[in-house]
Amino acid sequence: MNINSVDIIKSCISLGIMVTLNQRLDAETLTLVADEFGYSIELIGTDLEKAIQGEKDTEKDLKPRSPVVTIMGHVDHGKTSLLDYIRKTNIIAGEYGGITQHVGAYNVKLKKGNSITFLDTPGHEAFTSMRARGTKITDIVVIVIATDDDVMPQTKEAISHAQLAGVPIIFALNKIDKINSNTDKIRRKLSEMNFLLKEWGGKYQAQEISAKFGLGINELLEKILLEAKILNLKANPNKPAVGTVIESYLDKGRGYCTSLLIQGGTLKVGDYIVAGNFHGKVKILLNERGNHIKKVYPSKPGIILGLNGAPTSGERFKVFKDEKEAKRLASKKNQLKKEYNIRYKKTITLEEIVKNVSLKNFKELKLIVKGDMNGSVEALIDSIEKLSTNDFFIKIIYYNIGHITESDVLLAKASDAIIIGFNVECSLKSKIFAEKHKIEIRLYYIIYNIINDFKNTLNLIKLNKN
Ligand code: GDP
Repeated sequence: MNINSVDIIKSCISLGIMVTLNQRLDAETLTLVADEFGYSIELIGTDLEKAIQGEKDTEKDLKPRSPVVTIMGHVDHGKTSLLDYIRKTNIIAGEYGGITQHVGAYNVKLKKGNSITFLDTPGHEAFTSMRARGTKITDIVVIVIATDDDVMPQTKEAISHAQLAGVPIIFALNKIDKINSNTDKIRRKLSEMNFLLKEWGGKYQAQEISAKFGLGINELLEKILLEAKILNLKANPNKPAVGTVIESYLDKGRGYCTSLLIQGGTLKVGDYIVAGNFHGKVKILLNERGNHIKKVYPSKPGIILGLNGAPTSGERFKVFKDEKEAKRLASKKNQLKKEYNIRYKKTITLEEIVKNVSLKNFKELKLIVKGDMNGSVEALIDSIEKLSTNDFFIKIIYYNIGHITESDVLLAKASDAIIIGFNVECSLKSKIFAEKHKIEIRLYYIIYNIINDFKNTLNLIKLNKN
């Protein structure tokens, strides 16, 4: 635009956007700033974006694929029991059980060559965080309702999640073996919420089941297949794989293990892959039975070994033709993430916070959380964030799987944060680095102790304030 950078920065500031000279702006901000100087912006793809987007699939590339199903519902209504029953009673005889790896998803083979993939992640976190990221991973949601109970708050929440995501719902009316089971009460409650079931002349499929005794489960699976048929699910298996990260964790012996759901293309051993902002060559590919496999097809899960870090649940992955391109994208994503994270400057410790709050100049505690498994990190974050009060806010600015590294310390320094490690270690180098920069690193092995420490801190703050 031939306008000097100072003027651009000034105009950003006048728009309320605090920027530095070498900061990246998103498309919306760029449009606003350009408009200030009478320019309009046209966004065009870069080479990298083109490589990311890949070729468009044509109709004849597309082949039928299995549905991916998430089971949701109120606590204790029987989600785990249903998932366990389906997992253990593998429909095709002779393939009983055998699921040894926790992949966060498993595929069950059914008659006539059909199969269904179930997402098996604790609670709804994965589903909701994936939706928050805009990644659609589920084709159908099964909502479990205990018929000896009621349509509960979490049932309603699950229904609205599924609706917002535009995913069809099948209701599983569970615990019909119980004496006080009242399926019609549930049907009526659902109809009052405008969910009229098929047997009452509506459009929603429902199945009475007992997850405990295996009643109605085959019929439920049939209904899932019927819904899938209507959806006409397809994917192109003949291209480099794309999909979503389900879970990842650090295995002491094997290194970073990442479970993925393939949503297009075929993933092969030896592929170069970018997942989140990590990259690597797929060295080993395992299925949910712990077997080494060579390929994974669309709608199927698999575990890969070979990434240089642990991406977060819900992040996208993609296979690249050559390693250079994969590395370039990963490093670009890394850079963007760092820029996003680095905002503040100053250092602080938990003890200083107590003092500072009493001086009324400290209201927010920033944390960086590193842990050994996605599930535990997410649970931990959830419990810590819940401790926030009106006067004092705990904010997790960054979390990830893996040991505490120098770059975590750098981020803590730049953003005035404390580092919490759960079941992970801190290298000597990072320790020295942290000491030099006066960054507090707190290592824990029991979640309870973390929560306790924070509770005590908050109590001290209260005492100091009064
Ligand atoms: P979740 O919290 O939704 O995963 O629920 P669970 O699967 O853990 O089930 C909660 C409790 O209900 C457990 O004690 C189960 O044994 C029990 N339960 C689940 N399904 C049934 C069922 O069909 N019949 C009976 N009688 N109990 C069930």
